Amino acid sequence: MTGEPIIHRFPRRHEGAFVNAYLVETDSGVVAIDGLLTVSESRAMRAGLEELRKPLLAVLLTHSHPDHYGGLTELVAGDDVPIIAPQGVIDTIARDDEAKEQILRPMFRDEWVSKRTFPNTPIRDGESLTFDNADFRVIDLGPSESPYDSPWVLGRDERTVFLGDQIYGRKHCFLADGFHERWLENIELLRDRFPGDAVFHVGHGGPASPADWDWQRSYIETFLDAVGRADWSNPDTARAAVVAEMKRFLSTDDLQFLMELSIEPVAAELGLLHASV
Ligand SMILES: [Zn+2]
Repeated sequence: MTGEPIIHRFPRRHEGAFVNAYLVETDSGVVAIDGLLTVSESRAMRAGLEELRKPLLAVLLTHSHPDHYGGLTELVAGDDVPIIAPQGVIDTIARDDEAKEQILRPMFRDEWVSKRTFPNTPIRDGESLTFDNADFRVIDLGPSESPYDSPWVLGRDERTVFLGDQIYGRKHCFLADGFHERWLENIELLRDRFPGDAVFHVGHGGPASPADWDWQRSYIETFLDAVGRADWSNPDTARAAVVAEMKRFLSTDDLQFLMELSIEPVAAELGLLHASV
């Protein structure tokens, strides 16, 4: 019997989760969307896969950030499956992984796996893949929230989208890679593409909907304004002012550290922060 693919979200406990990944259960197999970050959560996702008693067919990656590929080793667990992404995502992960190791090892210790698994199968913009009753089409966005982003659309009606981090589900956002202009352009590119009742399965929080494009744009613009208006003659004060402003915009602490990690890089990119500080 053929039905709609079933979407399973991980970690199963959504409250307080850092990052999401998904298993899409088809008639006879399972397709994973991203792989979480930590050893323990990706191992729990693997256990969730095994409970379904269907083989893992492929992994599809939504972008190049380590909180979405770091768990691939535990998730794939030696299965010989394609891990699929545009070439730009594949190249970015290979290029940046050593730098991510330097940042993430002290933060996550043994929870950041020592032997990472990288995507191994490129796909071109607009190409689609069919696994039984599930069709996935990739959108090659290029730089956006990360240095290379690639949402996946499930189904020809385009009502189900694995959007990666193009929209955060009302959590603080990471802007340190400096592609916010492209991110804003991509928001306008994607805004009218999907039907009004589309469901966006996102990397952090969610699910989101097309109504959330406006919120995401406001978050990015508020952050850029806050960095631009801060008094960078005193970097500590400037930084505190940006944090305070963003907490007024969004009162949650969720992923606040990602926003805080973004302040100096964006100030430097805007030419506000000089080498002397
Ligand atoms: Zn993320």
